[in-house]
Amino acid sequence: EDIRVYEFAEKLKRPMSDVIKVLFDLGMMMTKNDFLGSDEIEVLSDEFGVEVTIIDPKDEFNYEEDLAHDVEEDPNAVKRPPVITIMGHVDHGKTSLLDAIRSAKVTEGEAGGITQHIGAYTVEQHGEPITFIDTPGHAAFGAMRQRGTDVTDIIIIVVAADDGVKPQTEEVIKIAKDSGAPVIVALNKMDKETANPDLVKGQMAEHGMTSVDWGGDVEFIPLSAKTGMGLDDLLENILITAEVLDLKANPKVPAKSAVVEASLEKGRGPVATVIVQNGTLKVGDNIVCGSSYGRVKALIDENGKQIKSIGPSHTAQVAGLDTVPPSGEVLMAVSSDKEAKEYAHKRYEYDRHKELSKSTKSTLEDMTAMIAEGRLKTLKVVLKADVHGSLEALKSSLTDLRNEEVKVEVISTGVGGITENDVELASASDNCVLLGFNIRPTGSVKALAKQRGIEIRNYSVIYQLLDDVTNMLTGMMDLKF
Ligand code: GDP
Repeated sequence: EDIRVYEFAEKLKRPMSDVIKVLFDLGMMMTKNDFLGSDEIEVLSDEFGVEVTIIDPKDEFNYEEDLAHDVEEDPNAVKRPPVITIMGHVDHGKTSLLDAIRSAKVTEGEAGGITQHIGAYTVEQHGEPITFIDTPGHAAFGAMRQRGTDVTDIIIIVVAADDGVKPQTEEVIKIAKDSGAPVIVALNKMDKETANPDLVKGQMAEHGMTSVDWGGDVEFIPLSAKTGMGLDDLLENILITAEVLDLKANPKVPAKSAVVEASLEKGRGPVATVIVQNGTLKVGDNIVCGSSYGRVKALIDENGKQIKSIGPSHTAQVAGLDTVPPSGEVLMAVSSDKEAKEYAHKRYEYDRHKELSKSTKSTLEDMTAMIAEGRLKTLKVVLKADVHGSLEALKSSLTDLRNEEVKVEVISTGVGGITENDVELASASDNCVLLGFNIRPTGSVKALAKQRGIEIRNYSVIYQLLDDVTNMLTGMMDLKF
């Protein structure tokens, strides 16, 4: 996938026009820079009688897979702590619960430290660490899942016992079921007189989350983030659930971790909070994180302390990347600076291709629509002129330039200079040119047009403009590439 028409022709050592013609005969209008989808590749390889193996380009440099160690198969994998995400309806107490757990479990030595919200923290229950993702709601969770970085081992759904199941509760139930991660329900606000845990259990049962004491398999823990009641029970239950999951990792391999959140910090540059999934991340490690890379300059824990390394399921803020990565991105240690740079660069190229192919996709849709219209080819025009009179004259002359094969569609007109908005508009459509009559674009507009690959043509004589457009249409008809 992700191969352009001309690249395909080059690979086949066939003239590009042959490839385009085959596509054309099959009713697919594509130009040399369009990306071929797997269907088109299949049709083409049939047509040309060649064997084609489709490789996802990401596979060719997928550092996540290249470098990942298979924990399942690793005899050196040892027990690792669970990673927890807390979800629930707004105001049901996610933030309060995260804060309550954290402050209840801050050990003596750290009490004096400045606690920082870096996006995740680890507490200990009877000496057993548990890591919480410290961003309530499911945004971070979604970002990570979207990138296939499922760090969450156990999901806690908070339901306010005085309020019951609400729309967002239903939403997170769905998310939790989809993810397959075990769920523990935190029945919060039990300190309130209006708390009605049985009502909540009934509602949750209707959504397929039946409490253990009702014969189901979901633990419901009554608690209060306000008074701290039940917090120990919750943590105990997390540990029991984790035990069953038999979570493992090998601390001795290079780190693979997931970005929980990242930002640009004054004086420190890009920082990213990560949770290590496997291996150990150390200060000095060469790292790659999507299209950004660098070397771990510092690791700062949730108490603001500099640490030397973090093992599986542990978290820290990483300083040393060259740019800010998105949440959910995978951050990995690689063997050299060169390797980090290479992976980052390839990934950058890959993302850029993805962007381009996205825009080609809409182009293809446009084209499909054109075919449906009766094999018309359309040249889209954004038209700007100095006065209303010439604008109207040009518009109607342009619209008249058509035959059974090609036509002009004026998608936008306006009196006055060419603006950045016009450029954006033109770049949003396929086969679009920007025509100016008796006006000139400013430097910044020109620069933007260049960046977007949009052609701006200026005229001061009407028939020259019309001649030029006629030529463009002829060019399109000829299928000359
Ligand atoms: P979130 O939107 O889910 O993060 O909810 P918050 O943690 O911001 O809590 C919403 C409101 O409920 C706040 O005013 C909290 O003080 C209050 N709250 C949270 N937990 C409890 C609790 O256990 N008991 C009582 N009485 N109030 C709580």
